[in-house]
Amino acid sequence: MTCPFCELEDRLKRSLEMRIHRGEITHTHAETKQGWPVGTVAEHMDQHLDYTPEEAAHIETVRTESIDTLNTAESLLQRMMGWLDELEDQKDIEGITTEWVQNATRLVAECNKSLKLVGTLKKEIGVDSQLFLQDQREAAMARILVNVLGSQPHLLNQIELQMQTLKAPTHIIELEDIE
Ligand SMILES: [Zn+2]
Repeated sequence: MTCPFCELEDRLKRSLEMRIHRGEITHTHAETKQGWPVGTVAEHMDQHLDYTPEEAAHIETVRTESIDTLNTAESLLQRMMGWLDELEDQKDIEGITTEWVQNATRLVAECNKSLKLVGTLKKEIGVDSQLFLQDQREAAMARILVNVLGSQPHLLNQIELQMQTLKAPTHIIELEDIE
């Protein structure tokens, strides 16, 4: 007979396993709520887990930390957006100058550096989370740049070109490197 607990969607299954492991819900409660036969939870928790509850707890911690990091990254991007607004005002007053483009490029590079530092500080985060963070960051920066420079496509190209030369070969921080 197949185990109905195992049949649950992965995320739901894992979260339910964690709550049961932490004693937040009783076996009876879970079984009643899901309409499972009595003993389903005990059997599943004893025999069907493909990881230890300790491993699961660690995964949960890492996930929480990656969310914290993401929040930090987002607040940095908020600040950067403020600076870009200032640059935008400056553009309206002084027009687009080479210096302006350099400032905008530098700003983006600074943001890159800050976020890399955040990544280093959060060494508990796995490579997957960093990749996720990197994706989020690049998407957010692209949005900001397009927002600010949407009417100036040639400048976008110029900044993109300058960014290419600034890009580090890799943003992934391996645990061995920083421990
Ligand atoms: Zn099971």
